[in-house]
Amino acid sequence: MRVDLHSHSTASDGRLTPAELVRRAVAQRVDVLALTDHDTVAGLGEAEATIAAENLPVQHIHGIELSTSWDALEIHVVGLHINAESTELMAAIASQEEARVARGIEMGRRLAKQRIDGAYEGALALANGASLTRAHFARYLLEAGHCASLQKAFDHYIGRGGKAYVPHQWMSIAEAVQVIHASGGLAVLAHPGRYKLSTKWLKRLLQLFKEAGGDAMEVSLPQQSPQERANLGLWCREHQLLASVGPDFHAPTSWQEL
Ligand code: AMP
Ligand code: MN
Ligand code: MN
Ligand code: MN
Repeated sequence: MRVDLHSHSTASDGRLTPAELVRRAVAQRVDVLALTDHDTVAGLGEAEATIAAENLPVQHIHGIELSTSWDALEIHVVGLHINAESTELMAAIASQEEARVARGIEMGRRLAKQRIDGAYEGALALANGASLTRAHFARYLLEAGHCASLQKAFDHYIGRGGKAYVPHQWMSIAEAVQVIHASGGLAVLAHPGRYKLSTKWLKRLLQLFKEAGGDAMEVSLPQQSPQERANLGLWCREHQLLASVGPDFHAPTSWQEL
């Protein structure tokens, strides 16, 4: 059975629409797919409707990826099997959206000081109503000729240490777990290997996540060494968490696929 429990659509910073995403999942013979857009559930309805209308042979799990702040670090918590209509979840999404817009405006201001005008408006236009992410700012910077690649947009401007970096103010890890549980879902620590933490700090994070009531962690991701996968599997068992499989799919490329 093929299972992909972490993916994005144009409802946040993915490049496929929810309809295109579920069709691609079927073409890739994925049996179970979770759409987990950044701080939004706006794509779930279209995914669901497409599967029903076209009678697609894929099980769709309702998901979300919440951004949280752990001191200076941004930790992502995926919610699976959520009820998108939960009042607690809707309130959390509204406040995250507000924080995204405020951060976007500030990023635009700081980019203007670097003689890059119109970045907020440009990113907003690219987002086209979706959850506004730094990926949209990176695309704007690339397309307007201010950098040579998306990675450079993060390195020079909007990533941590960049000239227009704005410190984040998301909900806490415990709040994310709580709101996911309130909506009937399971809380999954996303891509634990991507936070550039030493083993000691990663284990602290796993302990804190477990104490907050977290249910699972992603252990299997693309572009991962067998050693990293083995370590994550071991620590997952040590902390009595369930194991999840998250490709963090954003767009079909030579290094990314469902
Ligand atoms: P945000 O949640 O608005 O801070 O946006 C972060 C998103 O930008 C991530 O989910 C990634 O999809 C994307 N991204 C691409 N390259 C990078 C990078 N070098 N650093 C951080 N995020 C990146
Ligand atoms: Mn993303
Ligand atoms: Mn993430
Ligand atoms: Mn993701």
